[in-house]
Amino acid sequence: MSYLYLLASLMFIIGLKELGAAPTARRGNTISAVAMGIAILGTVIEHHLLNSVQILSALLLGSVIGIVWANRVKMTGMPQLVAILNGFGGLASMIVGWAEMEEVAHYNWLGYITLNNLPCSHLFNYFLLSVTTATVFIGAITFSGSLIAFGKLAGWLPTRGLQVPCKFLTLLASFGFALIFIKCSPAMVYLPALYGLIVFSLIVGALYILPIGGGDMPVVISLLNSLSGLAAACAGFVIGNVLLIVAGSLVGASGLILTLVMCKSMNRSLLKVLFHQFGEKKDVSNRQEREPRAISLDDAYYLLEAGQKIFVVPGYGMAVAQAQHAIKALSDLLEENGADVHYVVHPVAGRMPGHMNVLLAEANVSYDKVVDMESANREMDQIDVAIIIGANDIVNPAARENPGSPIYGMPVIEVSRARTVLALKRGSGRGFSGLENALFSQENTVMLYGDAKETLTQLVGAFRNASN
Ligand code: NAP
Repeated sequence: MSYLYLLASLMFIIGLKELGAAPTARRGNTISAVAMGIAILGTVIEHHLLNSVQILSALLLGSVIGIVWANRVKMTGMPQLVAILNGFGGLASMIVGWAEMEEVAHYNWLGYITLNNLPCSHLFNYFLLSVTTATVFIGAITFSGSLIAFGKLAGWLPTRGLQVPCKFLTLLASFGFALIFIKCSPAMVYLPALYGLIVFSLIVGALYILPIGGGDMPVVISLLNSLSGLAAACAGFVIGNVLLIVAGSLVGASGLILTLVMCKSMNRSLLKVLFHQFGEKKDVSNRQEREPRAISLDDAYYLLEAGQKIFVVPGYGMAVAQAQHAIKALSDLLEENGADVHYVVHPVAGRMPGHMNVLLAEANVSYDKVVDMESANREMDQIDVAIIIGANDIVNPAARENPGSPIYGMPVIEVSRARTVLALKRGSGRGFSGLENALFSQENTVMLYGDAKETLTQLVGAFRNASN
């Protein structure tokens, strides 16, 4: 059995490494999924659960739900799915910690609960109570926080930061219950304190995620992912499962790295994200000075036909329209026409980390055609046309020019410095952060209104007709 755990741990590490680069990510995903299968098998064998109807039914039910859900979810629903899966990870860890305490505790005649069947070492018992507290606290805040993140991403809750009262008081209350639970006595567990900890931690998770909104959401999603791993690692200590400690630590550490990368991309510190409400500053001086200028499909064709250096900037609207194949077809035609075309991907474009990279890979866009924001910004003055496909916040010049804007200081793709900006969107809809975007009414910006996939397909048709 320990060989199975060792094999699974190695495969998790290799899988994670492969997930780090777009060309090998699919393989990394498969390796990690197989490793999880081996881990479950190892646990089933270790605990002699092979004949248990319960474990087999749970496995079957979980697999069926997972397969049906993953197959039915639309690409635009992926971020919500990722958010809720983080939450389930936290919930599972919380239940493991709680169940373990119910298992080892038994009521004595004083109405207290003593620890059963455990070594009498007080040090050990303090350790067990502390890791259980950590498991329950982190697991619960991950679960309720992920539910709120799910609601925001699905559009069920407002995406802006909401003002909520008593955040700090509930945090203090959960710390209070945690202290009572740990300190009660090394040979006792006081289960009512654990119940209090669970309830208040669930409230803390919701209250601390509600005020986070707009541009800070990517940071929160990666942080919740990291916390789900940390909760699993703590649960591993509670039940003495080495593999859970390894897998949880891998998720926790990689999630934390991603969180820091996201913070850097947004030019925000983690403390600011967690303790300042997004949009505390009012969007005062970012008013549009002129009406956006719409152009016809023919005009857009001539503009692109003349362009030599072209940047394509995909955003969430590309995911909504599923326009990745259409833009790839158009880019191929532009290159046949002699243009040099590159895709510029902002780290927080779309609704989940790597969202645009996944879509572009699906459309077989070559990786060497994708450039990062910093390199693109260095070249921006030489760009003839920057095509914006359903992007908004990630190209908002207010981030550089408007100190009154809530996103002031966030690095953006500086398309407004290109000679011409061709923006594809359906109308005057705002981005996730709900801010106005003066880019669309600038002198050098022209708008091609409509669903991005339909518009791009018509442009592809125009180029094909011209070459026949
Ligand atoms: P965005 O700011 O949300 O803007 C998307 C734009 O796409 C909208 O203005 C919309 O305008 C347009 N659009 C929607 N459907 C379209 C369609 N079918 N065809 C053409 N256009 C369409 O997107 P973004 O620029 O990619 O910025 C991402 C935002 O999401 C950032 O604020 C980021 O902080 C946040 N976020 C990111 C993550 C992450 O991990 N990446 C997670 C959570 C939140 P119309 O309605 O006028 O068409």
